[in-house]
Amino acid sequence: MSIRLGIIADDFTGATDIASFIALSGWQVIQLNGITDRSIDITHADAVVISLKSRSCPVNEAKRLTREACEWLQSQGCQRIYFKYCSTFDSGPAGNIGPVTDLLLELTQSPMAVLCPALPVNGRTVVHGHLFVNGQLLNESGMQNHPITPMTDASLLRVMEQQASGQCGLVSLDQVRAGSQVVTHQLNALQQQHKRYAVLDAMTDEDLQVLAAAIPENLLLTGGSGLAGALAFLAPETRNTTDIGIPGTEGKCLVLAGSSSTMTNRQVNFYRQHAPSLSIDVERALHDKTAYLKELVSWYLSRSGSLAPMLYATRPADEVKVIQQRYGADAAGIAIESLIAALASELTHHGVNKIIVAGGETSSLLVQHLGVKGFVIGQSIAPGVPWVKDISRNMWLALKSGNFGDERFFIKAQELFNE
Ligand code: ADP
Repeated sequence: MSIRLGIIADDFTGATDIASFIALSGWQVIQLNGITDRSIDITHADAVVISLKSRSCPVNEAKRLTREACEWLQSQGCQRIYFKYCSTFDSGPAGNIGPVTDLLLELTQSPMAVLCPALPVNGRTVVHGHLFVNGQLLNESGMQNHPITPMTDASLLRVMEQQASGQCGLVSLDQVRAGSQVVTHQLNALQQQHKRYAVLDAMTDEDLQVLAAAIPENLLLTGGSGLAGALAFLAPETRNTTDIGIPGTEGKCLVLAGSSSTMTNRQVNFYRQHAPSLSIDVERALHDKTAYLKELVSWYLSRSGSLAPMLYATRPADEVKVIQQRYGADAAGIAIESLIAALASELTHHGVNKIIVAGGETSSLLVQHLGVKGFVIGQSIAPGVPWVKDISRNMWLALKSGNFGDERFFIKAQELFNE
């Protein structure tokens, strides 16, 4: 069996997001954090997702990383490549989506790339080639103020043509609603018109399924998690329960919150009422890390109960502002992230093998500190957040970006293995 889909994602949480959408259809999905170890055996997986940090780095660096990932996937027998970017098409006039797509067209020798950022379940839809976020044009959705990749034009055809080397065509919603054959016909027509890219309209999951069924194998796939989820949905795998990833009851569990988003605040406040909890002191994280770390480890080890102890830096927005003014936003953020990563690392030497983490950047650093090269995607806890298992040891992680999950998320994650 060969890998059905090799996905190159331009950031870490986007990689977990697409991996979890595909795993919903029973596919075995392995996610690798870059290519740190070429000896890892991925050939038994249905899909492999390689997460890069290439969304907003210089174009040449994004191309170098992407080339390395693509060539390695191809060397492992992977036939179909999927370039995953954000469903809000995060990019600038120079890239990186356009130049990376051009490079992948060359490496895969594909005649044309499809562009499908639509993710209806999260309110991202594409109509007449224009991207909407919860019904608002991309450039009026708040994304026009994004600090790194402000999106000031909702026309994906214009945005793509500005940053790539060829012309862009459209598969319209009318054509999608007319069915797969019409879509395939339009994709062929666009190739005859020498288009290099085709934006795909889609407003619903059903539209995505029509598209997934219609796209010929030789076209390069690019987009968000929606189209990849639809491709897997059309060819589901049935696995027995032992293959479905849920942590076992052996070992200890730990909850770490390094995010101060609105939802994480709600989750922390809720969980505090049910489990042992300790608030992280930012001052000590900054100025007394070594001694403080030891105290936090002792605190964790002296707690018991059916729910895992939680350590959290989470504060309401007004308190975060005060902390940031006092210590500097970057300094405070880095001190908290590195304390949390060090704490996780230390506690793995004391029997912890399940860690639930709130915060995208926090998760990314923690995974690096633990030396996790990659993981297998397990059972979903909330949309876009599965339990994942380290490919090289019995270590489970639940990595949640700020606003994912509902109030009961930390408890739900543990119910999956405590039941
Ligand atoms: P999210 O997914 O919610 O964006 P991240 O982990 O990506 O969470 O980013 C949150 C950033 O805010 C991290 O750098 C974290 O250290 C920092 N942070 C969290 N809580 C506080 C706080 N109380 N004071 C200052 N910075 C904080």
